[in-house]
Amino acid sequence: MTAEVIVDIAHADVDRIFEYRAEGAEEGCRVRVPFGGRTVDGFVMRLKEGSDFDPAKLKKVAAVIDKPLTRECLSLVHALSARYHCTKALALRLFLPAEMRRGQVHELQKNVAVFAADVPLTPRAKAQAAALAFLKEQGRCPYTVYREQFGDAAVRALLSRGAVRLEKERVARTPLAGLAGEKPAVRTLTPAQQAAIGRIAASSRRVQLLHGVTGSGKTEIYLTLIAAALREGKGAIFLVPEISLTPQMFSQLRARFGDRVAILHSGLSAGERFDEWHRLRSGEAKIAVGARSAVFAPVENLGVIVLDEEHDGSYQSESNPRYDAREVALLRAEHNGCKLILGSATPSVETYLRASEGEYELIELPERINRRPLPEMIVADMRREVRRGNDSAFSAALRGELSACLEAGNQAIVFLNRRGYAQSVVCRDCGAVLKCEQCDVSLTYHSEEGCLKCHYCGSNYKMPRACPPCGGVHLSYTGTGTQKVVGELQKLYPAARILRMDFDTTGGKEGHYKILKRFAAHEADILVGTQMIAKGHDFPSVTLVGILDADMSLHFSDYRSGERTFQLITQVAGRSGRAGEKGKAVVQTYDPANYILRFAAAYDYKGFFRHEAALRKSTAFPPFARIVRVMVTAEEDKAALEALKEVYFSLKELYDAHPQGFLFFNKMHAPVRRIQNRCRYQVLMRIADDSLLPEIYARALAPRPRGALVYVEENPGNLS
Ligand code: ADP
Ligand code: ZN
Repeated sequence: MTAEVIVDIAHADVDRIFEYRAEGAEEGCRVRVPFGGRTVDGFVMRLKEGSDFDPAKLKKVAAVIDKPLTRECLSLVHALSARYHCTKALALRLFLPAEMRRGQVHELQKNVAVFAADVPLTPRAKAQAAALAFLKEQGRCPYTVYREQFGDAAVRALLSRGAVRLEKERVARTPLAGLAGEKPAVRTLTPAQQAAIGRIAASSRRVQLLHGVTGSGKTEIYLTLIAAALREGKGAIFLVPEISLTPQMFSQLRARFGDRVAILHSGLSAGERFDEWHRLRSGEAKIAVGARSAVFAPVENLGVIVLDEEHDGSYQSESNPRYDAREVALLRAEHNGCKLILGSATPSVETYLRASEGEYELIELPERINRRPLPEMIVADMRREVRRGNDSAFSAALRGELSACLEAGNQAIVFLNRRGYAQSVVCRDCGAVLKCEQCDVSLTYHSEEGCLKCHYCGSNYKMPRACPPCGGVHLSYTGTGTQKVVGELQKLYPAARILRMDFDTTGGKEGHYKILKRFAAHEADILVGTQMIAKGHDFPSVTLVGILDADMSLHFSDYRSGERTFQLITQVAGRSGRAGEKGKAVVQTYDPANYILRFAAAYDYKGFFRHEAALRKSTAFPPFARIVRVMVTAEEDKAALEALKEVYFSLKELYDAHPQGFLFFNKMHAPVRRIQNRCRYQVLMRIADDSLLPEIYARALAPRPRGALVYVEENPGNLS
C-alpha cells in the first residue's frame, strides 16, 4: 500500500502530498518519514494501491507514532486550508493538542499489581498469603495501595516468586477535580423550553438560532439536546466564549453527564489538556466543552454542536490560521449531518440577518424562566451629576440603589466598560502621556504592583519620578479603573465585602473560577469587574447591576461599537434578578439620548437590529460588505514600507480591473503604528464581491522580501 502523507512542516513549498510505502501505517496515523535527508513527522491522509511514482524508488514510512486524526479531520483539512489560505500542515495542527506535537507530554502511567499465579507459600508467610489471596480475588490493585496494605517485604517476595506481576496503567489527570461533585439539578422543562426543543427537532435547517433573553433557560435546552445526542450513541461539542465561563458550565455538565464530559481550554496544564483530548479521541468521553479551539475536538459521530453566546468576538482567531469557530462548527455539523445551535440574548447583526432571511431557523424565547421580570433599567445622566457637583464615579441613583440592595442583604455587580485600573499617566507640565517603548500605545498604571504595563506586549516599567520628555514632576493618573472603584466603594460602604475581578486578579488556571465561586457562595456583597463578569454567570442573589460608563465603547472607531455596546448593556444587566427578587440595573451615561442606549434600556433587540442593519446597509459595512485588511509589519520602517508598496501595487491592479467590486481601497498606517517593536501598515478594503477574495489572498501572500510579515484579516474583530 502507498501512504499519501502531509509532512508536518508549515511551509508553502512542501504543502502537498508525498508518497511513501505504508508499512502498516493507517489513515489518520502520525508517522515518521524520511524527508530531504532527515526524518520528520507526517500524517497519513490516505492509503491507496499502487503509486504514480516508480514503486522501486518509493521510500518507506520509518515508524508509526500513533493515530490522532479522525476520518472527519482528514476530510475537513482540505476545506479548512482552502478557506483560511493556510498550508495543510497548519490546518492539521488545529486538530491536535499543541503539546502532543512538541512531544512534551506523555501519558501518565502508574503501576498496578496483577494476580499472576498461585505459588506454594511457607505457612509462616502470613502476610504473603493474605496479599496473594486479596489479589486473587480482586484481580488487580494499584501498586502503591497494595504495598501500603500488605507491606513492602511481602509484596516484593510475591513479585520475585512470580505470583504477582506489575502492569502499567494509563491514568487521566482530571482537570478541576475539586469542582465536580455537585448534584445535578433535576428540572422539568418549561413549556417554552419544550416548544423550543420541538421546533429544533422539526426544523429542516442546519443552523438554529436560539434567541432567548437573559435567564430564559437556554442552558437547560442545550443540556437536553446533548442528552438526546448521547442517548442516540452520539457525541456533542459545547462551545463557550471565554475561559471564565468554562469551569462554571463544566461543573454543570459534569454533574449531569459525569466523566463523559471532557474540558479543553488553555487554562489547563499541558498534561491535563493532553489527557482530556485523549479521552475524547478514544471515545471514553463524548462531550467536549471549551472555548474556541474546542471546535476541533476529536469527537466522532457528532449528534449536536452548541455554540453559546454566538455574538462573542472570541470565536474569531486572531492568529494564523484566522478561523472563525462558527464557520468551522458549521462545516462539522454538515459533515456529521447534525444541527448547529447558536444561542444568544443579543445575536450578532450578521447572524440575526441570516435568521430573519430564513437561512437559519429562528427560535425566540422572549421571557425569562417562570415569567420572572427582566431587570428594571434606570438610566442615569452623568452630565447632570457633574453639573450638580458630583465628581465621583457613582450617580446618586446608583448610590441609592446600592444602599437599598446591601441593606436587603442582596448582592450587587458593578461593571466597568473597559479593562481598567487607574488608566494612563499624563504629565501635567508638558501634556505627554507615558508610552510603551516598543508599542505605540499608552501605558497603564497598576497600583498594586506600583508599575506601568503595556497591554499590547506585556512589558513592565517602573513608575518614573519625572516625565521622560520634559523632566516635570507633576505626573497624574487619568480615568477610573476597577481598583479606584473598589476604593471609592469601600469608603461609601465600609461594611460591604467587595471582590474585584479583572485581568490582574485572575491569575492561575482556576483564578476566575475561584472568584466567581466565592461570590456565588455570598462571601462578598459587591463584585467589581470588567468584561469578564459581563456574561453567562448565574448568581441568584444579585438584584442590582451598575454599569458605570455604558457609552464608553460607543467612542471606539469601529463599525461594531454600537452592536458591542448594546450587547454589553443587555448582558451585564441580565445578571440581575435572575431568581427570587426583582432586579434592577443602573446604566450611567454621558449620552442618554443615544439610540443604542435607548434600545438597550427598552430591551428592544428587534428595534436595535432594524436600526443597525439599515445603517450598515446604507454605509456598506458588514454583513452587507466584507472588510479585508492586509497587514504588513516589519522591524524596520523601511522594510515595512517597501513590502507595503509591493502589496499595494499588486492589489491595485486587481482594484483597477474590478473597481465595481470594491467599496473602499487604500493604504495607510495601522491605527497602532507599532506593536512589539514592529512597524505596522495596512491596505484596507471593503469589498462587495466575495469572489475577489481568492485573488486578494494570492496577491497579498505572494513571496516578499525578507523581514516583512504579511497577513490577511476578514472582518477583523479588532482594527487597531
Ligand atoms: P440563559 O442561559 O438563557 O441566560 P439559564 O439557562 O442560565 O438562562 O437559566 C436561568 C435560570 O433559570 C437558571 O437559574 C436556571 O437554573 C433556571 N432554569 C432553567 N430552566 C429551568 C426549568 N425548566 N425549571 C426551573 N428553573 C430553570
Ligand atoms: Zn508594548
